[in-house]
Amino acid sequence: MENLQAKHERSLVLIKPDGIQRSLIGEIIQRFERIGLKLVAVKMLITTEDHVEKHYTLDSNWRITNGEKSIKGYVDKGLEPPTRDPMEMSGRTLNCLKKYITSGPVIAMIWTGAHAVKIVRKITGGTEPLTSDVGTIRGDFVLDSYQLSDNDGRSIRNLIHASGSAEEAEMEIKHWFSETEIIKYNLVQEKILYDVNLDGIKE
Ligand code: GDP
Ligand code: MG
Repeated sequence: MENLQAKHERSLVLIKPDGIQRSLIGEIIQRFERIGLKLVAVKMLITTEDHVEKHYTLDSNWRITNGEKSIKGYVDKGLEPPTRDPMEMSGRTLNCLKKYITSGPVIAMIWTGAHAVKIVRKITGGTEPLTSDVGTIRGDFVLDSYQLSDNDGRSIRNLIHASGSAEEAEMEIKHWFSETEIIKYNLVQEKILYDVNLDGIKE
């Protein structure tokens, strides 16, 4: 039963406006597709500031964890953060995010498969492109930092949103998609990824 659930884990991914403007739609989708995840919903839309604020505050802890992470991003580099108050830090970030995410079309997607949330985060890379790993989307395709974006009073431009946990994903999926937009289908490769006996290959 546990295995069955893990195989059907879902993650919400947004290609943010900069990802579309940088002509990275295909590159980003390819990275999730080739690892074996299944795309079960996709749409392009222009969203509202209200929708963005709700998206980031679905998780009541986001304000505090985001603020602490940003402050740590400075401290780890021996830099002084703009404020030491996590709530103030994330309040600024949220305001910037409303402008950023509504600045142009975004692509919203649901990817499903084993460990979908962690796999998507691994491929996406850490929040700050300056320190996200080489080989990840944020590490390979963009060069922004906390310092640069905060000094300019804007969001870190990091191409993608990806759910942080399975619970967050389920809330975000309801926030962006209706049930009728989510397609149930089999993908041929699931036979190879998940079949226990691999007994359907040989003639
Ligand atoms: P994510 O889950 O890796 O996307 O990171 P968070 O959920 O903590 O933050 C959401 C988004 O806000 C990030 O992807 C960045 O675009 C932006 N952001 C987060 N922290 C900061 C910050 O300290 N400064 C600025 N300028 N932008 C930030
Ligand atoms: Mg997040």
